[in-house]
Amino acid sequence: TPVVHLEEVGKSYGNVHALRGVSLAVRQGEITCVLGDNGAGKSTLIKIIAGLHEHTDGVLSVNGEERRFSSPRESLDSGIATVYQDLALAPLMSVWRNFFLGNEITKRPFGRLDDRKMKRVADEELTKMGISIPNLEQPVGMLSGGQRQCIAIARAIYFGAKVLILDEPTAALGVKQSGVVLKYIVKARDAGLGVVFITHNPHHAYLVGNHFVVLKLGRVALDTHRADITLAQ
Ligand code: ADP
Ligand code: ADP
Repeated sequence: TPVVHLEEVGKSYGNVHALRGVSLAVRQGEITCVLGDNGAGKSTLIKIIAGLHEHTDGVLSVNGEERRFSSPRESLDSGIATVYQDLALAPLMSVWRNFFLGNEITKRPFGRLDDRKMKRVADEELTKMGISIPNLEQPVGMLSGGQRQCIAIARAIYFGAKVLILDEPTAALGVKQSGVVLKYIVKARDAGLGVVFITHNPHHAYLVGNHFVVLKLGRVALDTHRADITLAQ
């Protein structure tokens, strides 16, 4: 079963139908790329999965169980980690505290650790994942956007998220930083997460994705897997 499954999901804001009849399966170990122009409904889709908006029609299931999230905490508690483009991590907080923000939010899996231990674990985990931050005491806001995205992805992997939702993670980045973030998206998939990669950039999608969904005016205009694209050639 897909870890996240939308069946005929709709969302209206008053008279605006942001999503209509959207069906989508997110599977663990896959990178589902969601593409579409401005206004296509990408943010609305994320907000429903992340618990910021409730859908108005259809069914959202997580691990085969029908869900309706009324807060981001409920989404997170179901194993769904969401990383927003501008809000990847708390800018004024130190790198190591940010790494453990996930623990405070989800209260798992380690219970309370003292500050020294948290700092050491953050250091070990980031190093293990190939992210080198010389000073973990510095505020996260001092880091580049790409580094923040990578730390947020590493944190989701460490805390055992099942699904990682990424909202335009490469949109504000140059070629080199985009490459690094794409590498971490692949690491998340290899760690067994189901990744939803929202992007405007078809090239980035094609580099890492194996499942492609195009939204157009709130509807699914295309839903295809890489194998199908290869066969079509
Ligand atoms: P995308 O992320 O692909 O740009 P959105 O999900 O932001 O698309 O928007 C889909 C449609 O819903 C657009 O027509 C947008 O103007 C509308 N919309 C999004 N959020 C709201 C809202 N809170 N209130 C009213 N309309 C909204
Ligand atoms: P909510 O959808 O719960 O009202 P939002 O913060 O998404 O919360 O939106 C607040 C208001 O701002 C909406 O009711 C809408 O009037 C307006 N709005 C927000 N985003 C958009 C958008 N993308 N397009 C049109 N209107 C929007």
